[in-house]
Amino acid sequence: MSMRVTRGVPLAGETTLAIGGPAAVFVELQDLADFGEFVALAEALPGAPTVLGAGSNVLVSDAGCSSPVLRMHTEGVRFSGEAADGRVLVEVQAGHSLHDLVDTVVGHGLAGMEMLVGIPGTVGATPVQNVGAYGQEISDTLIEVTAWDWALGRRVTLDAAACGLGHRTSVFKGSGRWTLLTLVFALRKDELSAPLTYRQVAERLDVPVGSRVPPAEAARAVLDVRRGKGMVLGCSAADRRTVGSVFFSPELTPAQARWLHGEGAPVNHFPDGSARVSASWLTRRAGFVLGGRLAEGVRVSYLHHTLVADEGASAAGFTEAVDVVVRRVLECTGIRLAPEIDFVGDWPQRLRPAS
Ligand SMILES: Cc1cc2nc3c(=O)[nH]c(=O)nc-3n(C[C@H](O)[C@H](O)[C@H](O)COP(=O)(O)OP(=O)(O)OC[C@H]3O[C@@H](n4cnc5c(N)ncnc54)[C@H](O)[C@@H]3O)c2cc1C
Repeated sequence: MSMRVTRGVPLAGETTLAIGGPAAVFVELQDLADFGEFVALAEALPGAPTVLGAGSNVLVSDAGCSSPVLRMHTEGVRFSGEAADGRVLVEVQAGHSLHDLVDTVVGHGLAGMEMLVGIPGTVGATPVQNVGAYGQEISDTLIEVTAWDWALGRRVTLDAAACGLGHRTSVFKGSGRWTLLTLVFALRKDELSAPLTYRQVAERLDVPVGSRVPPAEAARAVLDVRRGKGMVLGCSAADRRTVGSVFFSPELTPAQARWLHGEGAPVNHFPDGSARVSASWLTRRAGFVLGGRLAEGVRVSYLHHTLVADEGASAAGFTEAVDVVVRRVLECTGIRLAPEIDFVGDWPQRLRPAS
């Protein structure tokens, strides 16, 4: 019996921001074989179920969640065969840690995920916002997912095209219709990584941008760069209550891209053809300083221009801080930031920032 059901569990303990009220019903799933039992339980309760992985991209309301919350702990990696193009197929359970998966595949001499090292969270959450960093995205390697479709009331298989993966988005983002159960990726047997497209990573290895290096070396360099920015959980005690980037990197019009380029902003070009600048660069440009207070218990990180929580933080305070940043960045740059984080639980309409 691997499913544990408890009532009134504070969700703050299940998120990296350590913010959020209780879940009326909190279910922890260790073994996918018991998922049917969760379906029966959820169908007997009011409200659509909410799924949590490691809680590293969510803000849970202070009121908590009156509908059932499922925490995926299902783990496992299986090398499941070879694709027609010779790539190695890897099937992964939704609750498996992404960082551990990257470690495993790099250790097996496989390339395609090395730049995703150090991103917190579970593999099941990765298609939700097509997780990506340093030039790689989940869409580069995802082949298909199996999911429970709450609208159809059955298990379905969706290929990568049906997942609608775009820049930090997919059909799953903000939907709640599907609970992802297993995922299949195709990885290259390759002694060399993808080309290093980010200057900081290339500089760390003392090679020109565009170079390819062994995947393990690329992963080590990315991890170093991420640690320097506080983008690895636990690398900074002071900034440990974080969701990484709170906002999407906004898409720029050609005129904005030219203007920001002239201002020295790192304008990045993405596979979907969009030009974007990081929200953290815009936050700095708008005059926010590292460590600066934004609202009760919420401030700018000491390492990076993102928001982190301290003693006294609440979901209400965090949304207030989000609004402060959105307003000032808009005033200073004419660019409107939108939250990347997902808002979980029961929210009074007036507190939930427009996303
Ligand atoms: C320090 C730090 C650095 C980060 N860096 C990056 C980065 O470089 N790039 C990046 O893209 N993200 C980054 N993130 C954000 C975050 O790590 C990713 O979004 C990650 O995929 C979230 O995984 P999770 O398991 O914590 O999901 P959660 O936060 O638990 O959930 C996120 C969303 O996914 C849904 N979800 C979770 N599991 C499932 C499932 N099995 N089925 C259906 N829906 C599900 C949830 O309902 C929620 O809507 C960072 C976060 C932190 C704290």
